[in-house]
Amino acid sequence: MRSVLIAGNWKMNGNMQFVTELVEGIKAGDPGNAKLAVCPPAVYLMKVGGMLADSGIELGAQNVCDHDSGAYTGELSAAMLMECGCRYAIVGHSERRAHYLETDQLVAARFTMAVAAGLTPILCVGETLLEREQGVTEAVVARQLDAVIELSGISGIARSVIAYEPVWAIGTGKVASPEQAQAVHAFIRGKLAAIDGEIAQRVQILYGGSMNPSNAVELLSQADIDGGLIGGASLKANDFLAIAQSVQE
Ligand code: PEP
Repeated sequence: MRSVLIAGNWKMNGNMQFVTELVEGIKAGDPGNAKLAVCPPAVYLMKVGGMLADSGIELGAQNVCDHDSGAYTGELSAAMLMECGCRYAIVGHSERRAHYLETDQLVAARFTMAVAAGLTPILCVGETLLEREQGVTEAVVARQLDAVIELSGISGIARSVIAYEPVWAIGTGKVASPEQAQAVHAFIRGKLAAIDGEIAQRVQILYGGSMNPSNAVELLSQADIDGGLIGGASLKANDFLAIAQSVQE
């Protein structure tokens, strides 16, 4: 039985006061049957990590460098993130792929560095609206996964979390229907099962894209949806907790 993870991607939002109040609000609430993680902007990792000590809520970064040290201005190594108390690092978020031109190969390299250091990457995959309309959703997701499997192997996937995030649903208020999401999640698990059935059954596959307290119950009750990567709704403690409480036993 896979546990359910509800992870908040705070993106580049907030300031010290906002972040402090958000963490206090989340800590004060009841996460129900879900495990929680939050991914604040990197400058707040130490602060949030300190506040989360002994809370059972995990800390994650929003990216990780594809090198372990050296002349990579602006980047953060997996070892540095571990030192800040991170358990997770998001890799391949569609905003990184689109705005910072991160290729499948670069995402795979970042993923591999995270795994090597003992971080759990949250690997984001997903198609654009055009790709969905062209009927190539599975081909796109397969290509994104293959780049990672080629570099990190199925053993790398075993040490990761996958997030299916249709690009057209991120920050748009347009959520994938439970059936649309489940179909892609099942495709991902089936693809992994063709390599290793045991790992495919074990790996958590989160859904991300405009998940909120009103649509969470249906999405999270799908057989292959093991949690959510939450953007906008993770910036309100009550909404984030309400999504977590939507997880059925
Ligand atoms: C995200 O950015 O990972 C995300 C899922 O955002 P939102 O929930 O705002 O669509």
